[in-house]
Amino acid sequence: MPARDCLFCRIGSGQIPSKVVLQDDEMFAFEDINPQAPVHVLVIPKRHIGGLNDAGERALLGRLLETAALVAKKKGIAESGYRVVANTGREGGQTVFHLHVHVLGGRQMTWPPG
Ligand code: AMP
Ligand code: ZN
Repeated sequence: MPARDCLFCRIGSGQIPSKVVLQDDEMFAFEDINPQAPVHVLVIPKRHIGGLNDAGERALLGRLLETAALVAKKKGIAESGYRVVANTGREGGQTVFHLHVHVLGGRQMTWPPG
């Protein structure tokens, strides 16, 4: 999908407004518009990557998870605990095809997930 047609490319570049949690040169974290927990933040690379299957770069994946942990710290859930989720593909429940992880917390998470 061309980046200009991608919702998360547009959010990551600031073309579409979002509630920014933190960002750096490569990563962008913002509040999910339909939160599933008291804390629900999405972390994306600014550069377009369709999903986990397309993310060949170790360094980028490392930074994505590192940013998820920074988000948890900033939102005050690092100690209480949180969940990081990467829905991938149709059966994985992915609806936006730009790589992202969900950072969820602020309540007790249950297992198994739906
Ligand atoms: P997924 O289903 O894993 O692909 O996650 C996509 C997520 O993006 C969902 O949790 C949506 O609520 C969220 N989302 C969709 N549009 C927006 C938006 N404009 N701003 C923030 N979050 C959004
Ligand atoms: Zn994109």
